Amino acid sequence: MHSVLVYHTINRSDQSCPEMISPERFEQQLSWLARNRKVVSLSETLMRNSKESLVAITFDDGYRDNLTTALPLLEKYQLPMTLFVVAGFVGRENYLSEDELREMARHPLVTIGSHGLWHRHFTNLSAKDARLELIESRRRLRNLINDQVDLLAWPYGECNPELETLSGQCGYRASWSVWKGSNGAHSRWRVPLGSRDNLLRFIAKASGVYALTEAKWHRLKNARLPKASPASTQTLSYE
Ligand SMILES: [Zn+2]
Repeated sequence: MHSVLVYHTINRSDQSCPEMISPERFEQQLSWLARNRKVVSLSETLMRNSKESLVAITFDDGYRDNLTTALPLLEKYQLPMTLFVVAGFVGRENYLSEDELREMARHPLVTIGSHGLWHRHFTNLSAKDARLELIESRRRLRNLINDQVDLLAWPYGECNPELETLSGQCGYRASWSVWKGSNGAHSRWRVPLGSRDNLLRFIAKASGVYALTEAKWHRLKNARLPKASPASTQTLSYE
């Protein structure tokens, strides 16, 4: 099984943020990946046999430090990444500006995908609103970067069979969740990373075996929780 890794923000300003990874630790992880794994673009994982156990790197939300901190390190190790941008967050404080997003999009190591328009809980949206989010985020990003946008990451990793169908209808070639959905064309699983992941945990997470056990545990836990309870929100903190 391929391992698609999910990062958010690479900085050291808020040690309590579970999604934050320091630049030093991020570089340690990239260095390990460059020496021990075959890292490919996200699109390439769609075309290659899962037995090859490739690794792809993704970033969610569109933080500015993805350009200022993460990209120079990815360049150093020549590792590609896909950046899933919340279209409505472009230009906000700590997020990429329009110019910065265009700079990322032009970079040969970077692919831009959509992470929705406003980072909403898609499973709580009406079909009409979900369709609007999918189409409008794609349109805005495409206009901003002047290039196609046909990859999607569900905000909070949340999806269901109806949304998976809708994503295809709205022009997306493939979509990724975080353990949820069927792991089919529009709910492919990814491995979330955060501040608790030391190198040993990272190595385990970068292997398909960990992904399978973690996915089962996560799905079992969610199946037992009432929908949209505070506890279930807690489980989404990495996404
Ligand atoms: Zn997100």
